[in-house]
Amino acid sequence: MNKQKLLASLPSVDEILKSDKGLQWQESFPRRYVLKAIREIIEGKRQAILRDELKEISTESILPDIQHRVEKLSSFSLKPVINATGVVIHTNLGRSVLSEEILENVKKVACGYSNLEYDLEKGERGKRYSHIQRLLNEITGAESSLIVNNNAAAVFICLIALAKGKEVIVSRGELVEIGGSFRVPDVMSSSGAILREVGTTNKTHLHDYEKAINENTALLLKVHQSNFRTIGFTKQVEIGDLVTLGRKHNIPVMFDLGSGCLIDLKPYGVHIEPTVQEVVKSGCGIVTFSGDKLLGGPQGGVIAGKAELIEKIGKNPLMRAVRIDKLTLSAFEAVLMNYLDEEKAKKGIPTIKMLLQDVGEIKNRAKRIALRLRREIKEDIADIEVMADSSQSGGGALPEIEFKTYVIAIKPEKLSVNKLEERLRHGNPPIIARIKEDALIIDARTVRDKETDMLVKGISGALL
Ligand SMILES: *Cc1c(COP(=O)(O)O)cnc(C)c1O
Repeated sequence: MNKQKLLASLPSVDEILKSDKGLQWQESFPRRYVLKAIREIIEGKRQAILRDELKEISTESILPDIQHRVEKLSSFSLKPVINATGVVIHTNLGRSVLSEEILENVKKVACGYSNLEYDLEKGERGKRYSHIQRLLNEITGAESSLIVNNNAAAVFICLIALAKGKEVIVSRGELVEIGGSFRVPDVMSSSGAILREVGTTNKTHLHDYEKAINENTALLLKVHQSNFRTIGFTKQVEIGDLVTLGRKHNIPVMFDLGSGCLIDLKPYGVHIEPTVQEVVKSGCGIVTFSGDKLLGGPQGGVIAGKAELIEKIGKNPLMRAVRIDKLTLSAFEAVLMNYLDEEKAKKGIPTIKMLLQDVGEIKNRAKRIALRLRREIKEDIADIEVMADSSQSGGGALPEIEFKTYVIAIKPEKLSVNKLEERLRHGNPPIIARIKEDALIIDARTVRDKETDMLVKGISGALL
């Protein structure tokens, strides 16, 4: 057929809309997307004809393309994925996972009215922060506390409220970039605080801080190095020593802990730098940390410390711009309830549970998945093996700690490992895995039992 004839045989938008399929789509999908999909696909075909890439055309043959397009247009953009990376606190995959129990509380609060800013005792306006202040103080041991949108906001508002126009002393070894554009020097300058760097990249001594103190010093700031480590010939000042120095000169000390762990993980062989409670106990004026890293809650930034400083921060007009919403607040309260009993936190908070998981348990899960995969696929499609490996916690926490884990290594025979990885990523639900040498690695640490069916189905489908 020649081009003109082909072009003339393209169906019209109206024709497709009125076809059985077209009517069916309009029942199931938003009409605007049905229209958009039909137009786009027809236009695509028209272009293909003009480029001589299409030699025949029929309405029937383009219906599956339209169906595919309209499904894609109408599907949710933000959706669940299976995290097979083994990285428990994976920032790109939404950091911490909340339990059903925690979500029950969110649901109750979100589906109706609540006393968000209403004092039920007095029958007058109340404070949204009051709902979890008591819990936060109880758990961290702090005199007072606040919670804002995230830890970046927490650091930012503390600097604005306590050090705007004044000097903040920070070690050069702690001027880190956390990722996602949180850079300590930049946050500092946007807050209007003046950065006073001391020491060197690898070594900073207490006397470096002391020498830099002057009448314009507002704060001594310590920042957790997060994903970064200086090793070898190094020294950073311990928080306790900084607090002593601060006391001597009557200058408050602030510690941006980043991840902020509320449980001592040493008995589990996880030697994490000080817990939040230890930092508070050291006399540190302000400690800030994320809600969705090691704490295992929703996105949020906790500010805990001395009542007088917290009050000053709470009064800053910017608090309104960084305040957290009721959904987050209700999730946070439910998560913190778990921390009242450490044993409960280890079982009830998925992040903690996944991190402290017994390696034997992970091995068994890996074996179960491998067994089902082998059963599902034909012998010659892929080689499937369970192996010992290591995973990381993620979330800027514990970067140097390798957690022992078990993985399923899949070597596809009929397609490249990159292609397999891509297919899994495009699956429904998407499966996010990593590639090591010529194998696709599924880490059983972060795959939840209820996801096993979907995982097996997804992988066996992708291997075909
Ligand atoms: C992660 C991190 C932040 C940023 O916290 P968000 O909750 O992501 O805003 C700030 N400081 C440190 C040291 C961190 O590790």
